[in-house]
Amino acid sequence: MAAYTELLRNQADLLRQGLADLRAEDTELAGILDAEVTRQHRTLSLVSSSCAANPRILAASASALVNVTAEGAPGKRHQVGCENVDLVESLAIRRARELFGAQYASVQSHSASNANYQVLAALLEPGDTILGMALDHGGHLTHGSPVAFTGTHYKAIRYGTTSQGVIDYAEVRHLALAHRPRIIICGATAYSRVVDFQRFRAIADEAGAILLADISYIAGLVATGRHPSPIDVAHVTTACTHKQLAGPRGGLILSGRDADTKVPGLRGSFSRVLERAVFPRMQGSPAVNMIAAKAAALGYAMSPEFDAYMGRIRSTADAMASAFMAQDYEVVGGGTENHTILLRLRGGISGSIAASALERCGIMVSKNRALGETRSSFVANGLCIGTGSIAQRYIDPVGCREVVDLVCRILDKVTPLSEQKYCLEPELQEQFRLQTEALCAMYPIADYRGN
Ligand SMILES: *Cc1c(COP(=O)(O)O)cnc(C)c1O
Repeated sequence: MAAYTELLRNQADLLRQGLADLRAEDTELAGILDAEVTRQHRTLSLVSSSCAANPRILAASASALVNVTAEGAPGKRHQVGCENVDLVESLAIRRARELFGAQYASVQSHSASNANYQVLAALLEPGDTILGMALDHGGHLTHGSPVAFTGTHYKAIRYGTTSQGVIDYAEVRHLALAHRPRIIICGATAYSRVVDFQRFRAIADEAGAILLADISYIAGLVATGRHPSPIDVAHVTTACTHKQLAGPRGGLILSGRDADTKVPGLRGSFSRVLERAVFPRMQGSPAVNMIAAKAAALGYAMSPEFDAYMGRIRSTADAMASAFMAQDYEVVGGGTENHTILLRLRGGISGSIAASALERCGIMVSKNRALGETRSSFVANGLCIGTGSIAQRYIDPVGCREVVDLVCRILDKVTPLSEQKYCLEPELQEQFRLQTEALCAMYPIADYRGN
């Protein structure tokens, strides 16, 4: 035991000492953590949900708030010693409401999946009917997929997209009127079009359903007015803080105009029912350190820098979509209205092969089932590409064309042997990897440069 001569009095002292101790006394873990920073610097992420939380947010998530148990809400805790926790949670709530123009905000959900489960569990009985977007059309597991809790616990009906990759609103209405779901879920995870929340609400009203909008993948575009907001349109909105908001892993539950509306069939308004949805129904004490990091992220999301970041997310997405089309790749729907590009692969290369080959060359991308694919999502026939990280590296439209060119050259050199096996010459792979590293060095992650 080292002889300490002074107290670690504040957050900075703790972090400094913690990092020094990790390096000195747990080299195995410290080495892995450092390797991950290096990996993020040296690889190019085209994963649609990816972004880098800035060091301020990382520091907030590593605060001493982790030591506090705080069941309940600010001012109404089951434990003592919560005065700073209350301030932090109140700050996060205030910022979430301000950023999204919401009347009600809950910041305790550990993730967006949890937030969705919490909302559904609060508003529905087991076995109730839910209507959500099918996973293979771009929906999320928590929207009623047969392999998820939402698909087994509820009677899940699924809608999809047209061949142009646009939500089939006529099908949504038809299914809603035929099955009378208690809740309709909109908001996708691999979708490149604007979601027409008004149209969803009109359908929900006609069918007597509650509307839940999950904006996890477009929260930053919504917050900066680049995508219509569902806050006053849907009854309830959920989001995560770690995709477009570039914050810590976590979920948000929001409600706007309908916060005070009575929930059909239940006692109390949406905000009253939602207030009990997280604690005590589904979670114990929140991760208060992560709530601090959410507060930091929500503060950042209100800054001019974040607005500019979202501007770059959009402009680079258009540039990448055009560049892929110029290389004769099919972009579903012929372009994008958000940060996502859905690419159909060619030449017998499956999504699984493309993602693996690109990863070996330092480019991270997610496979995705483009419309009409019948093979499993482990194989897939397409890619889902997003510009969250590209925009954080300030890669301009010219750089975007270079990135697309590199991706296409790699895929051209891949020889598929089966659905998942392929051949890519090791020397070529190494050349491509060095080219990726050179691009990464030319366009460093802006927030990960010190001063
Ligand atoms: C990513 C995503 C989620 C899940 O988020 P987690 O916080 O990782 O649980 C939920 N809904 C949608 C639409 C998503 O894109």
